[in-house]
Amino acid sequence: MEKTYKADCGRYDRMEYARCGNSGLLLPRISLGFWHNFGESDDGDAGRNMVFSAFDRGITYFDLANNYGPPPGSAEICLGRILHDHLKPYRDELIIATKAGHAMWPGPYGDWGSRKSLMASIDQSLRRMRLDYVDIFYSHRYDPQTPLEETMTTLADIVRKGKALYVGLSKYPADKLKEAVEWLRKMQVPVVVHQVRYSLFVRDPETELLELHRSLGLGTVSFSPLAGGLLSGKYLSGIPARSRAASDSPFLTPETVRNKQGQINALHEVAFSRGQTLSQMAIAWQLRDDRVCSVLCGASSADQIQENIGALSNMRFTSSELNRISEILG
Ligand code: NDP
Repeated sequence: MEKTYKADCGRYDRMEYARCGNSGLLLPRISLGFWHNFGESDDGDAGRNMVFSAFDRGITYFDLANNYGPPPGSAEICLGRILHDHLKPYRDELIIATKAGHAMWPGPYGDWGSRKSLMASIDQSLRRMRLDYVDIFYSHRYDPQTPLEETMTTLADIVRKGKALYVGLSKYPADKLKEAVEWLRKMQVPVVVHQVRYSLFVRDPETELLELHRSLGLGTVSFSPLAGGLLSGKYLSGIPARSRAASDSPFLTPETVRNKQGQINALHEVAFSRGQTLSQMAIAWQLRDDRVCSVLCGASSADQIQENIGALSNMRFTSSELNRISEILG
């Protein structure tokens, strides 16, 4: 018979938490994303081990979307099973987020940000996860074809119906982000967070968004902080068979790995001299900036999660380390 899960009682000693923008919501500085590795390819054990390992180390924020898997929907089903079988007693200790806005089901209503699509999607997500509500419901991307007012009013109604506690936005361009937040605030909807792609290799948010988030009182949650694994020890000497780059993923190709090989190895040396692994340094480099509330990491094993949390033990960088990193990145 399966052993009943009992969370580690030291879990909150191992994590730091930061206020999400001006809201009352605290998020762990490192969170767990379900984009890859929680779908049908998972035998059940791997996903469960990662969830337990994360929660036992104080990771309280699990980030999903309707289309995560593969196939789409299966990550929510996987988490739903784990929640139902093991984590029910801990529901009030968890922040569970999902999103809608990327292609999910066939036809004109399974994508983007119309009222028809978002209303159907939140209900589907709640059913798959066997939940009454999510903590954060995100508009996954800005929809240029739907009036912003329609998308925002729908998000407001989702909160009013008790299906979500907070609203999040993801990948909105700066001007649309400002407008969206204005709409939501006018309707007194708690919009608390904007998700952006941010890593040592993708620094676009530094030009405008990080400051904009601060001025709007939004928390920054950064996704793909390891550039899909490039900024980890995984690709230091080529492409291992079990890796995102070896799995025909359009999001990390062998060519990208080859192009970045020199930089990865040079960054690894800086990390080594700090007593960190490359993934720990890549995460710590973001967390040194208090404009970043939480770094949203993916993983394919519990060991990776454990390693990444080690980033918290050294988040200070000397100016010579920062200069060396800038030199490497060019
Ligand atoms: P990362 O950049 O953190 O990449 C995660 C991958 O890096 C893992 O799957 C694993 O690759 C590898 N990895 C992680 N830790 C280690 C380690 N210690 N050693 C070696 N390899 C490691 O993030 P993701 O791109 O996966 O994105 C994270 C989350 O962000 C998603 O799950 C999702 O929740 C969110 N997201 C949001 C988006 C949005 O539009 N709002 C878009 C994309 C992501 P491998 O699997 O090869 O082992």
